[in-house]
Amino acid sequence: MSRLLYILCLLLSFQFSYSQSGSFDDVIEEVSFVSDNIYMIASVGGPIAGNIGVFVSDDGLIVIDDQYEINEEKILNALSEISNLPIKLIINTHFHHDHSDGNKAFGKLNIPIYAHKNVRKRLSRNSVLYGSNRLIEKYPNEALPSLTYSSLMSLYESDEEIQLYNFGKGHTDGDTVIFFKNSNVIHAGDTFVTYGYPYIDLNNGGSFEGFLNILNMIISLSDSDTKIIPGHGPICDINDVIKFRDIVREHFNKTVQGYKNGDSVNDIISSIESSFEGERTKEDFVKAIIFDLENN
Ligand SMILES: [Zn+2]
Repeated sequence: MSRLLYILCLLLSFQFSYSQSGSFDDVIEEVSFVSDNIYMIASVGGPIAGNIGVFVSDDGLIVIDDQYEINEEKILNALSEISNLPIKLIINTHFHHDHSDGNKAFGKLNIPIYAHKNVRKRLSRNSVLYGSNRLIEKYPNEALPSLTYSSLMSLYESDEEIQLYNFGKGHTDGDTVIFFKNSNVIHAGDTFVTYGYPYIDLNNGGSFEGFLNILNMIISLSDSDTKIIPGHGPICDINDVIKFRDIVREHFNKTVQGYKNGDSVNDIISSIESSFEGERTKEDFVKAIIFDLENN
């Protein structure tokens, strides 16, 4: 990338991050009880930020995703509402900075960071997100995951078995779905969200077919009692994921069919009966599916 283009991207990404809603000064970190020793911390009032999951083990906190470096103090305050134990380790659900920028703060404290191997790969270089000018600048060494895995890793903590799954390409090519087997809680990262049309990062290994596969895997891990923490939004259950999967699946199947038939984008859009409310439109979503079919 040329120097000028790089600076332009930086400027645009700066503008984008502040256009979401409030500023970082307005952020309030809200703690919710999920189940047993598991809590959720949601950032409200500021720029969009991923839900943090917290597991309280006997000797420390296991923290899933860490939002932004600038939120460090507010995150630590929210954690102290849950427990006085120190952070033992952090898991990144994927590399997007609204879930992993906090690595820059917590990595400096020498807290181990676990993630799929492609998170480390993507954070080791500059990345531009699909469909936006959002640039994620490469992270300093101390903010990179210090332990990576490929498809499945289990952590045995206190009485809990914490399973980290990568089901292949989906939201990105380094998504981790975390299943707390004994507590029956899932943290889905951005493979499941409640803000309307989901975002698939086609510049960074995302795939619509893979995204649907991950949703099916989450459904098969779950039963009617499973609590599911989405990447963004309130605590959900299997029925919310099924509804979400069905809408994404209808869009995907009808777009694939229409694309094969040579139908126009408008024809494809009008053939799809379901829809999501939210900022992203049905047209954006259908066009992204077509981009995926043409390029991947
Ligand atoms: Zn994301």
